[in-house]
Amino acid sequence: MPKLARSQWYDLTRDMNWDLRYVSEEEAFPTDMSDARGVPAQEWWRWDEPYKISYGEYVHNQADKDASVYSVNSAIGRSHIFEDLDAGWRSAIVAHYGAIAVPEYVAGIGESRMARFGRAAAWRNMATYGTLDETRHGQIQAYFAHSLLDKEPRADWAHKALHTNEWGAIAARSLFDDMFTGNDAVSTALQLTFTFETGFTNLQFLGMAADALKVGDVDFGALISSIQTDEARHAQQGEPTLRILVANGQKQEAQRLIEHMFWRSWHVFALLTGLSMDYYTPLEQRNHSFKEFMNEWIVKQFMDQFRDFGMDLPWYWEEHFLSELDWYHHALHLGVWFWRPTVWWNPDAGVSPDERDWFEDKYPGWNDSFGRWWDVIGENARRGEIAQTLPETFPMVCNMCQIPVVTPAGYAAGYLSSTVPHVLDYNGRRYTFCSVPCKWIFESSPERFAGHTTIVDRLLGGEIQPPTVEGALRYMGLSPEECGDDATGYAWAHATRSAPSAAGVA
Ligand code: MN
Ligand code: MN
Repeated sequence: MPKLARSQWYDLTRDMNWDLRYVSEEEAFPTDMSDARGVPAQEWWRWDEPYKISYGEYVHNQADKDASVYSVNSAIGRSHIFEDLDAGWRSAIVAHYGAIAVPEYVAGIGESRMARFGRAAAWRNMATYGTLDETRHGQIQAYFAHSLLDKEPRADWAHKALHTNEWGAIAARSLFDDMFTGNDAVSTALQLTFTFETGFTNLQFLGMAADALKVGDVDFGALISSIQTDEARHAQQGEPTLRILVANGQKQEAQRLIEHMFWRSWHVFALLTGLSMDYYTPLEQRNHSFKEFMNEWIVKQFMDQFRDFGMDLPWYWEEHFLSELDWYHHALHLGVWFWRPTVWWNPDAGVSPDERDWFEDKYPGWNDSFGRWWDVIGENARRGEIAQTLPETFPMVCNMCQIPVVTPAGYAAGYLSSTVPHVLDYNGRRYTFCSVPCKWIFESSPERFAGHTTIVDRLLGGEIQPPTVEGALRYMGLSPEECGDDATGYAWAHATRSAPSAAGVA
């Protein structure tokens, strides 16, 4: 039998679109699940993915990828590489597994929603691969974490975290439920694949794979590379969906969906990646600061692409997003380190004298703002007064992003301190927000978010007993052995500045 080139049969076998006669459009594609925004069926049939692959090729590629990544894991598992890694980097890995492994599986729900309720056969075809992708690399991440259990018991948070009421897990669930489990197919394509995957995770995974190889973590580097190639392909469902919406007069709706999810993604991204990149990655292996990464990758590449579609910059771009690049993750880091018993990894303070020089170089004014808080903490650590560096109360938590409310420190504090928290009274209760965009997202669909309770709402509502730090830790699923502690045993507080040649004289 003559073998045809793929291009000769691909479109024909892919485009299984037809006019419905036995059921209505709404019965086949209910608004809650699909929401075509009024764009007619035939318009959706123009949907065309930029990356084409047949099922046979897909399975072949994926099997190769699995064979290669599992063989790296099996070889590394017998070595001492993990034990020898920098303590801060190990924390970044443990934080990553807890926050990401199960959400990968959950992303499979968003993909399968598009695989069933996407409005074109081509799209449903691509989303079917996406479902398989998320399942495959959800499995790799659970498996790799499992292989670390004899070295790091908290690697089991890869499975556990999203099933607890730990505050970071609540924040992650709130984001991911909004983005994929509780979302229609059209919104999912714009919010999960275009905004979150194209905008954030694909670029982050490229950076993380490079960082992992630099610090000598071959296992994690291979893992992330394997995932990234899946993500880079299925993330491309966003573009054709956006193109069809814009061509059919739905630009404002597309704009709203992307602005909503870009902001939410940014906050969780700053919490996880901001801390890992600037504080947990060893100084010698830092390629760039988190702010540089954001500017060079996320801001430039994503926004260039965004503008190519005729979209506008989000309304909050300059005033809120770009200004947060200077301080938001520094403030979160200070809070996460201080409330370290409430997380399942060991936060690395990352503020030795050499590191502080680096912060001053990358974030001019850091020593006069955030550094002053660390001066006091370092002094207490040097005196052995660790109790002074631990929390006795709870922070205020944002009713949108579910992340504690933070402000800039020092010279820049005036920027926000008079205006936070932002409050809204809705249906008889008061909601608090960390930022103007978080409040805007809530106000744009309050019925969607009003029922979500933050960890502090639960404390005040009597769900957490006793209402103490210990009671809250138990509620969050953290046994004393699992609670986070300083990653280096406070070595940073006792460190001295290295020779000028090594520290660099700016
Ligand atoms: Mn994924
Ligand atoms: Mn994905």
